Amino acid sequence: MTEQEYLAQRQAVLAEAELDTRAVRAGQVRTFEGEHAEPIFMTSSYVFSTASEAAARFSGAQPGNVYSRYTNPTVRTFEDRIAALEGAEMGVATASGMAAILSTCVALLESGDHIICSRSVFGTTTVLLNKYLAKLGISTTFVSPIDAQEWRDAISPNTKMLMLETPSNPLSEVADIRVLADIAHQHDCLLVVDNCFCTPALQLPLALGADIVVHSATKYLDGQGRSVGGAVVGRREQMNEVLAFIRTAGPSMSPFNAWVFLKGLETLRLRMMAHSSNALALATWLQDQPGVVKVYYSGLPDHPQHALAALQQKAFGGVLSFEVGSDQDAAWRFIDATRLVSITANLGDTKTTIVHPATTTHGRLTVEQRRETGIADNLIRVSVGLEDIEDLRKDMQRGLDAL
Ligand SMILES: *Cc1c(COP(=O)(O)O)cnc(C)c1O
Repeated sequence: MTEQEYLAQRQAVLAEAELDTRAVRAGQVRTFEGEHAEPIFMTSSYVFSTASEAAARFSGAQPGNVYSRYTNPTVRTFEDRIAALEGAEMGVATASGMAAILSTCVALLESGDHIICSRSVFGTTTVLLNKYLAKLGISTTFVSPIDAQEWRDAISPNTKMLMLETPSNPLSEVADIRVLADIAHQHDCLLVVDNCFCTPALQLPLALGADIVVHSATKYLDGQGRSVGGAVVGRREQMNEVLAFIRTAGPSMSPFNAWVFLKGLETLRLRMMAHSSNALALATWLQDQPGVVKVYYSGLPDHPQHALAALQQKAFGGVLSFEVGSDQDAAWRFIDATRLVSITANLGDTKTTIVHPATTTHGRLTVEQRRETGIADNLIRVSVGLEDIEDLRKDMQRGLDAL
């Protein structure tokens, strides 16, 4: 058997493999050195054997690496692996999650186009759309992620893209991807889903009808709080446009970060299931504690979209939020009494993090916008990590004792 035949057979085996297998092996092409783990290609450029080969590479007549803003073997391995996990034709890596969202919009939309976006998306996404895309002549209407009629009513002749996150941050509202995909396609629009909170281990938006998935790899794909990065995956037609924009504008992923994300992906499903079971245990316990007014977590049976979440996701994820006492002072006293968890706005880490959304992640919203999106002054968000659940409960008890 030739090496080519062996590689083709391996490729075919991987194409049919389950998610855990793809997470560990997809995208890797071994070099002549026979390395087992993926190497980090820390090089900004590549050499050619002759001037004519350089010319052929630059013109595109001969495939191959030219410069790491365009292609890099470690970054390509990450792109192929995240695409394989999401069930996409093609993936493109970006320097951050925000670069993934920006690149998707700028590459695929024109001045005069209109976006409909969930009101409950990452705060910086709202700023990006409202301030910078508006400057390019791309307008946005914000609607409720859980009211399909609001999306239908917001459609206008120049609407080209529908965008959402599910479950939402920090209130765990669950949008129906299938229903919103139908609305998008009835009007020739693309549905873009930010799959940051579930990851492909828990939710596959493309299989539910979405056209494009964007990621902040910074969160669960890394999973250990080390690197900033992002990804866009979808059909070749659109991804080539996104890739062309990234190669020109420059928000490409560093090879070192790509390698960190590759190592993160290898344990993705194990971590997501463990995050989810710790979060469900903590949410269930918090719900029964005096001083806790309300818990927001789609894994709780009385959550308004619990049935949808159970259908659309394999588990309920690692992020929950809850209200304590009656004001900001109560929330701050709770947070300041913890001794184990980290007070930081990042999420999707093995280490549990705790934050007060109204004065941090959602601090740039007006009081009116916070009321509209339900971010109360006494709300606390926890990204539940992989510490022992008993230790986490004890730390939350320290917070409760301070109320
Ligand atoms: C963090 C985050 C982003 C932005 O990602 P960065 O990597 O910080 O640029 C986008 N969407 C969601 C849902 C996020 O949590």
